[in-house]
Amino acid sequence: MITGIELGGTKTVVAIGTEDGSIIDECRFPTTLPDETLGFVIDWLGGRGHPTHVGIAAFGPIGIVPGREGYGKMLATPKPGWAGFSLTDKIAAAFPNARIALDTDVNAAALAESKIGAAAGMDDVAYITIGTGIGGGILSGGLLVHGALHPEFGHLKVPRMPGDDYRGICPFHRDCLEGLASGPAIKARWKKAAHELPANHPAWDMQAWYLAHGILSLLAIVSPSRVIVGGGVSQVDGLHARINARLEEIAGGYFPAAMEPGYVVAPALGQEAGIRGAFLLTSL
Ligand code: ADP
Ligand code: ZN
Repeated sequence: MITGIELGGTKTVVAIGTEDGSIIDECRFPTTLPDETLGFVIDWLGGRGHPTHVGIAAFGPIGIVPGREGYGKMLATPKPGWAGFSLTDKIAAAFPNARIALDTDVNAAALAESKIGAAAGMDDVAYITIGTGIGGGILSGGLLVHGALHPEFGHLKVPRMPGDDYRGICPFHRDCLEGLASGPAIKARWKKAAHELPANHPAWDMQAWYLAHGILSLLAIVSPSRVIVGGGVSQVDGLHARINARLEEIAGGYFPAAMEPGYVVAPALGQEAGIRGAFLLTSL
């Protein structure tokens, strides 16, 4: 019984699926306190059988390298009640015979899009989400990048768009990419939520500026063959085309990939990339 959990800052998905990433049955509910949220997950799965594999795709920061101190634990998250909570201990206590695979939500989404989505067949892929926060998962040479912690694409420093004097909303760095271009940053700067801004509002050229600069850094460091941009804020019409255009301009003719109009694309798996990636994590 292959199962998956996608733990997000605002919502959690628990599901039963297949090793090739299809969903058989799923349930979505709000993320509350850790014991309550995981308690619900465990009851839902336990009521449907005996999981043999549990793939977990979680928001971070979280320890994802097996054997290293902090593995399975939520680290310095500002989300109340979650810092120090061990996801893997909780799941292992409920399902002692299950094999657990854990990665970040964005790494899981990168994996899913590279296997069965918008970058199918590619070994070098980045998946970026723009929602309540900004995150990025990276598949490099066919392997998910972990490193000392895991990539934190949203906390890159990016050059200011000329004329933008908004101070930034990141509690750690103020005007990092997440501080300038996440959903809450858009709301604080324009006094309207992202989904209330029309597609021709100047906010979207600014979003494209900041994301294109973040993606240029990715190109320079890990050289993805394709970049997938998802998350709630990415749903506005035309954002991917705007990012491609700005990226081509700032790449200065240097990066061949950045000149292709289809370099930055929307996820093919939509809202399901994370949970389908959780299933795929179980067979890595
Ligand atoms: P989370 O990051 O909490 O998982 P989402 O990825 O759904 O949540 O992102 C929520 C953000 O997406 C909010 O800032 C909201 O304003 C924005 N959003 C939702 N729908 C749209 C839309 N169609 N166009 C632009 N922004 C949107
Ligand atoms: Zn930051």
